[in-house]
Amino acid sequence: MKKNYKIRVKGIVQGVGFRPFIYRIAHEFNIKGSVKNDTEGVLIFAEGTQVQIDNFINKIKNTPPPLSSIQSITKIKLNPMEYDTFNINKSNITESRFTFLPPDTTVCDKCLGEFIDGNDRRFHYPFINCTDCGPRFSIINDIPYDRKKTSMDRFVMCSPCQKEYEDHLNRRFHSQPNACQKCGPYLSLFSSNGRLIADKTSTVISSVVDLLLTGKIIAIKGIGGFLLATDATNDMAVKELRRRKARPFKPFALMAGTIKRIRMFLNVSPLEEELLLSKERPIVILKEKKFNLSRGIAPSITSHGIMLPYTPFLHLLFSGNSNMVLIMTSGNIADEPIIYRDDDAFKYLSNIADYIAIYNRDIIAQSDDSVLFVEDKTPYFIRRSRGYVPVPFYSTTTTKQHILATGGDLKNTFALARDNIIILSQHLGDLASPSTNDLYRKMIEHFKKIYDFSPEIVVSDLHPAYFTTLFADELKENGLKKISVQHHHAHIASVIEDNQLDGKVIGLAFDGTGYGVDGTLWGSEFIIADKKEFKRIAHFSDFHLPGGEKAIKDVWKIAISLLYDCYGSSIPLINNDPQVKFIVEIIKKKINSPLTCSIGRIFDGISSLLGLSETISTEAEAAILLEETALKGNSNNIKPFLIPFNRGDTIILQTKSLTRYIYNLIKNGKSREDIAYIFHQSIASSTINITKIIRDEYGINRIALSGGVFQNRLLLNLIIKGLTSEKFDIYTPLKVPFNDGCISLGQLAISKELLRNE
Ligand code: ZN
Ligand code: ZN
Ligand code: FE
Repeated sequence: MKKNYKIRVKGIVQGVGFRPFIYRIAHEFNIKGSVKNDTEGVLIFAEGTQVQIDNFINKIKNTPPPLSSIQSITKIKLNPMEYDTFNINKSNITESRFTFLPPDTTVCDKCLGEFIDGNDRRFHYPFINCTDCGPRFSIINDIPYDRKKTSMDRFVMCSPCQKEYEDHLNRRFHSQPNACQKCGPYLSLFSSNGRLIADKTSTVISSVVDLLLTGKIIAIKGIGGFLLATDATNDMAVKELRRRKARPFKPFALMAGTIKRIRMFLNVSPLEEELLLSKERPIVILKEKKFNLSRGIAPSITSHGIMLPYTPFLHLLFSGNSNMVLIMTSGNIADEPIIYRDDDAFKYLSNIADYIAIYNRDIIAQSDDSVLFVEDKTPYFIRRSRGYVPVPFYSTTTTKQHILATGGDLKNTFALARDNIIILSQHLGDLASPSTNDLYRKMIEHFKKIYDFSPEIVVSDLHPAYFTTLFADELKENGLKKISVQHHHAHIASVIEDNQLDGKVIGLAFDGTGYGVDGTLWGSEFIIADKKEFKRIAHFSDFHLPGGEKAIKDVWKIAISLLYDCYGSSIPLINNDPQVKFIVEIIKKKINSPLTCSIGRIFDGISSLLGLSETISTEAEAAILLEETALKGNSNNIKPFLIPFNRGDTIILQTKSLTRYIYNLIKNGKSREDIAYIFHQSIASSTINITKIIRDEYGINRIALSGGVFQNRLLLNLIIKGLTSEKFDIYTPLKVPFNDGCISLGQLAISKELLRNE
């Protein structure tokens, strides 16, 4: 007895070789009918015996194509149609235009095989790809995902390419970026003033390598934008790149050709190796061993972000030079977004790069390289971008409305929710300049288009001065319903959502800055939270932030403020220093000196007190130096200092006691290294101390960690060890960072819950 089913497959099923896979297994199980793409995913009509149909569906579930990610398979029984063939039909547009789009993926092994095969027609073709690999998110302009809706539309396939594209059984069947050297994009190399140097692949590659090895800086167009490359072993070149980028401190990311080469100067654990080699090819932060590259890569820092080549072009660069190690840093100016258009590269990067290597395919959606680190066998995101975006999150709850979460202003991502699906944008950076603001608006429009998304609800942070809040207000004026979410509640809710938890947790949100419901700047929050609400249980005591949020780069001012908090006007040290006096006056008179309890700021202040930094050039610089210093110190078996606390409605840890304790250690001549370590240990032990009190009182054993301060690996390690030995159930972010890149996810989790309860 023949059965006929309409089978709907949702998830990332387009542009990943799904239809040819279905076609192949339909033949394998003698199924008749058809398959096609539509805007909801893949639609199959399958006719066969019940056993054949069951086997067919099991195979779809169990061995789907490598880049696919199936969200659901549903089937509806139809009347038998007596099909006599199985066909791949043309895609069409149905009412719902929603579809999942795949991320950009590193060149696959099959393609690499052809790439190095001198007899293959794509030998050394720098844009080789197939349905299992290559650019996707970065080249998609609109849906349905089809070649003419991508930046490949200007390239007309030659007949061998076209033949592959139309051949059901070919690895390149309907591979939208399909191309070869005859018909596809090609490389060219220019001097920074626009003079063409080379446009033949082999000459471009050999010239680029030669120039790099003589210390030149080259802007290279990657998948999501331009990278700035230079020889990481050449001190002069590295120094020059720092000078031209006006970037004194922030470490540069690296690229090496092989894991073997990386192992020569960095430690690589099995999990770190797995991440480096994964199809997403992120930057992984590794600890150094016999480090013999230029110190200028990361002055005074002993861990380094590194990645392996992820495009055929980058493979070519390293193929003849397996020993080369390059700096590969985002091609941008200061805190501006990564540059991804050719004309912008010539306009803005020509002051930094000596040469510019481009190709003639447009990048539609920019993305930076993703960054992860591994601590205690657990991977953590610092930046979720290229390779991971726009892979969806499947939520345990559903929404009927389209919700847009605008995120926070630092390390911004925004996010969309519809049904049970959440999609996070790529990392868009700090929304502090007109160009990042423009990019933000542009990307929201882009996501609205490619996800057929029309927001009805908009969610923002509580911070009244955030760009993202003002943006949400604009949408509110246009008739959208607006929901505001407290920053640290969003942090913790993102962990709840990411781990698919239900009910309440103790949340630790240790952060730089977040606007509190009382108008002060929070950032050392012990809260009890679920997705609906939160209660602030404990935090560090407030101190002033002289100069406000705009002055947080002057960490010396924070040190003065901590001392003032402790000793009042008779602050020790530099009583007569006019600058100190000035800051004390500002605090006394409460001029632009908001209150904060942020742990991030305490780290900054203590770092400055130890003389490690005065003014920082990049966020978290002072804290990073404090951590690096602590790694060289120890507690000398002194019992950790438990910060005393007051109990009222909330538990308030006395920041001033901590400052006094640290200041006394300095006065007693203890080494900076040991003091830095003791400080970390004190924060960790005091944290465990408070969480135990909260557990006893509220009977909650689950604890969720979020906030950028947890990117301090020493602190993270000490806190996780402490919580583990106290038998807490610990939850950390899985697919989002500790930092504010998680805020949009938390905002969605909370708003969905609030709307559900309306
Ligand atoms: Zn491939
Ligand atoms: Zn071709
Ligand atoms: Fe935050």
